[in-house]
Amino acid sequence: MKVRIFDTTLRDGEQTLGVSLSPDQKLSIAKKLDELGVDAIEAGFPVISDGEFKGVQLITAEGLSAEIVGLTRTIKKDFDTAIDAGLTSIHTFIATSDIHLEYKLKMTREQVLEKAIEAVEYGKSRGVKVEFSAEDATRTDREFLKKVFGEVAKAGADRIDIPDTVGYSTPEYMAEITRDAVIASKLPVSVHCHNDFGLAVANALSGIHAGAECAHVTINGIGERAGNASLEEFSMALQCLPYEQKYETNIKSKLIYDTSRFISKIIGIKVQPNKAIVGDNAFGHESGIHTHGVLSNPLTYEPISPELVGQKRRLRVGKHAGIHGMNAMLAEFGVKPTNEQSEKILEKVKVLGDQGKQITDVELLSIASEILGEKGIKRIVQLTGFSVSTGIGTMPYAFVKLTIDGEEFTGTDHGVGPVDAAFNAIQKITGKVSEIRIKDYALASISGGSGALCEVTISVEDAQGNRVSAKSVGEDIVTTSVQAVIDGINHIMLKKMLKEKQVS
Ligand code: MN
Repeated sequence: MKVRIFDTTLRDGEQTLGVSLSPDQKLSIAKKLDELGVDAIEAGFPVISDGEFKGVQLITAEGLSAEIVGLTRTIKKDFDTAIDAGLTSIHTFIATSDIHLEYKLKMTREQVLEKAIEAVEYGKSRGVKVEFSAEDATRTDREFLKKVFGEVAKAGADRIDIPDTVGYSTPEYMAEITRDAVIASKLPVSVHCHNDFGLAVANALSGIHAGAECAHVTINGIGERAGNASLEEFSMALQCLPYEQKYETNIKSKLIYDTSRFISKIIGIKVQPNKAIVGDNAFGHESGIHTHGVLSNPLTYEPISPELVGQKRRLRVGKHAGIHGMNAMLAEFGVKPTNEQSEKILEKVKVLGDQGKQITDVELLSIASEILGEKGIKRIVQLTGFSVSTGIGTMPYAFVKLTIDGEEFTGTDHGVGPVDAAFNAIQKITGKVSEIRIKDYALASISGGSGALCEVTISVEDAQGNRVSAKSVGEDIVTTSVQAVIDGINHIMLKKMLKEKQVS
């Protein structure tokens, strides 16, 4: 059975606290979603602002393959604005639960039903497709909900949607009211599930098994409060879990990871590492037992292959490490220690692991080279001099002195702040030796007070697109930032050098 994917990243997802997108950003996300293969894109709520209208207009004008949908209340002006924005498909909603009727709408059930019917009829008279949502459906009186769905169907609605607006449904109840909705409306049914109890995907799947044909989902599960059902979890569960009924979607699963990161970057919300399917740890292994298993057959500790969703298997070593996994990581760089050397390297790894450190491949190589007697892996780039000046009425300015393979370089530059100025100065110098760019920068304070420790995480990328991240902890924000960048640059150069060595 084919399940329709209705993506609402640009509507419910944009209602995530702290998220607001420009029209151009909305368009770039819509294009990405279209490439991913979603069937419908809810582009926005055109009546709320000029920018929102413009964003929806840009998307409808783009000629994408996905059906473009816009949200409206059951108000004529909302429909007119949506149609003016180029929409031919509308998702209209009105609340049906007593709590919304009494405290928000101040309307009776009869009045709400009348509004719903009028809106559907108006939409149809304007020649657009109409999907009707009974907001807060899962807390609505069950008999009244059936009546509403039956009546809007008679009024000409093309589809109906069951929103679990506050994530209050159980999978069992979602199945029951989905069956009700199918019987009452005889229309294609969608489910719109929220994640307040972490059940959004389970509820959406349950709706599908009970006869719904479509789910409203968002990339990375973003959305109001705890978010919506996540597209990647929902679509992969349908495709991969051992259901008797076979399900398919039009999602090109290999693009999932890339789409997740693209959207995370634009909206500025990070994906938690343990997020299913798209988290950085979703296919990561550290413990010796797991790593050993995965290396002999990935199916031992991975339900699906990471490549299926455009992900990578990530092996890490730390205090749970075993010799097999560690040797596999080293072998990737052509480093093959003897048994005795392996044990020594592992011992060092475990000491660091016990100190709470996660050891990256570059650090592992560095430990290995100490043990293998290659006189340690030298720091290719060393920070030998550094100063910044900043203040009000003066442009932040930085001076940096680096030693690269024994040769000294100096660089100066301005920036929007002292960290930016320092990075610009570093890039001026490193740009001469290899094209390394700073891609990400994150600063967090570890403890309170003005003497707090800060933690800087950066990622750098070389011309071939290889990315490495580095972390540094210190008391001075600017110096710590610079140190993290220098570490990142060293890591990437070292990785490259070892890879080249392996090839030759
Ligand atoms: Mn919602």
